[in-house]
Amino acid sequence: MAAAGEALAAWRRLLGEDRVLVDAPTLDRYAASTSSWSTRPLAILRPVSTDEVAQVVRTATEHRVPLYPISAGRNWGYGDACALADGHAIVDLSRMNRILEVDATLAYVVIEPGVTQQQLSRYLLEHDLPLWMDCTGAGPDTSLMGNILERGFGHSPYGNRFQNVAGMELVLADGDVVHTGFGHYPSSVNRRVYPYGVGPYVDGLFTQSNMGIVTSLGLWLMPKTEALNHFLCMVQEHQDIAPIIDALRPLRLDGTLRSILHIGNDLRVISGGTTFPRELAGGQVPLPEAVRQQLRAAAGVGAWTVSGALYGSNDQVAAARRAVRRALAPTRARVQFLDERKLNLADTAARLLKGTGMGRRLAAKVALGRSLFEMNRGIPNGRFLAGAYWRRRGGLPADFPANANPALDRCGMLWVSPVLPMRGEDLLRVHALAAPIFSTHGFDLFVTFSMINERALGGVLTVAYDAEDPAEVARARLCYRQVFETMMAAGYIPYRVGLQSMADLDNGDDAYWRMVGRIKAALDPANIIAPGRYSARGRPPG
Ligand SMILES: Cc1cc2nc3c(=O)[nH]c(=O)nc-3n(C[C@H](O)[C@H](O)[C@H](O)COP(=O)(O)OP(=O)(O)OC[C@H]3O[C@@H](n4cnc5c(N)ncnc54)[C@H](O)[C@@H]3O)c2cc1C
Repeated sequence: MAAAGEALAAWRRLLGEDRVLVDAPTLDRYAASTSSWSTRPLAILRPVSTDEVAQVVRTATEHRVPLYPISAGRNWGYGDACALADGHAIVDLSRMNRILEVDATLAYVVIEPGVTQQQLSRYLLEHDLPLWMDCTGAGPDTSLMGNILERGFGHSPYGNRFQNVAGMELVLADGDVVHTGFGHYPSSVNRRVYPYGVGPYVDGLFTQSNMGIVTSLGLWLMPKTEALNHFLCMVQEHQDIAPIIDALRPLRLDGTLRSILHIGNDLRVISGGTTFPRELAGGQVPLPEAVRQQLRAAAGVGAWTVSGALYGSNDQVAAARRAVRRALAPTRARVQFLDERKLNLADTAARLLKGTGMGRRLAAKVALGRSLFEMNRGIPNGRFLAGAYWRRRGGLPADFPANANPALDRCGMLWVSPVLPMRGEDLLRVHALAAPIFSTHGFDLFVTFSMINERALGGVLTVAYDAEDPAEVARARLCYRQVFETMMAAGYIPYRVGLQSMADLDNGDDAYWRMVGRIKAALDPANIIAPGRYSARGRPPG
């Protein structure tokens, strides 16, 4: 503790009292978690420049006090803003939120860690730039950088986000500031247009890792397209989703479908508009089948819904529409294409029917359609956070989605995120492995499978639980663990994990993780930066 006291004193001299926070309400806020594995920090440090980050890190290394960097700290479902153990100093980079460079010709920006989805999206709109940002469903206040460093994914053709990073600036544990790619050559004019540089390509080492703190990065953006259509396709029966995956895969592989398609089960879609209907369910969990069917009918959805967007010129989008129709013709899918004109017509109809049940339903559909359209164009919307509130007592907060924060709102949510080969049979297999476990533990399985690249589906299986009910929390932990272990055993390794599963990635006899451990030991011998995060066994947290 003496070391911690000395480090805090040094950080106060560096940052000032108001940027070294140790008061209980602040620490409580940072410890708030959608999972039940939260940890309590020693302090919150708020540097505003790369130089300050370097000095913060040097001080931490000198006094052997572990640090945990966050960009916006909204890593909901995967550990939120929590370090792996109590007593780490959170380096909150949200005040480093400058958009450092914008190049409309070459379609990229350079951003600091605190730049949020809302901020960049607004910037592009306000400056009337012909560029779209890729957007995730995690709402306006999440960061781009934290998500990219977790290798998160969004919705657009640029949704495989890390693939669009060109050049990082980062701080190592000894305080060295490194520029990756060509950025370490002061004369380079090409650092944002060619990510690999010359020599070993190291950027990946700083994603899902604890090797350094990233203080800026170049991000390629998508040029606006002449046309944009959203498409929805639905099947009534569970097993009918498999042929649809197999029919759409060739279109994803040949580039007809360039964006990330999301395939959600009925509850995934329903939970976007309502929370668990406790009264209708009569105290039963999971949702009784009859109630589930009732909710399906009310929402107008089948067992599965595929949602995606078509981008390009008018001709390209028209050709893509024809290709999708042709590919899905032999399946049982009902396909619907949405464009601005259709949305405006539906809007007019909803106004004419105002005050009637049909008018209200239509208005709700138009609002959802507009949010999807906006998201495709990189405008974030908090409404897609609703799923996190499924089991929350009291349902959605009155002002939802304004200021929605599932961790502070006491939502309970754990995610298992296996990667699958993009084949219908794999989707059915993963579902069949998970469904009985969810049911045994009394949870509704809501799940999305996203076509995260041309060959893989990224599954997100949600264990949504009532965080106020200790028995349910305990069941949620068991359910999570069993699903996680089942997926690992079946070879569906996750693309990303919460802090509760970091230690389970390395079986203790794995040359890959030994190598990762050796790199970590070389870069951060005192194990100061985010100890335990995606790291080899034998380097325990703290
Ligand atoms: C309903 C719902 C929908 C969601 N939808 C999506 C989605 O569509 N796609 C998706 O990917 N996620 C989604 N999420 C998950 C998550 O909320 C987002 O990924 C979110 O962007 C992560 O939070 P953040 O941006 O604040 O990152 P942070 O919490 O700031 O960062 C995440 C982690 O990255 C590391 N890190 C952050 N910054 C740095 C840095 N500068 N240097 C080194 N390491 C750093 C830290 O270890 C940190 O814990 C969703 C969550 C919910 C509840």
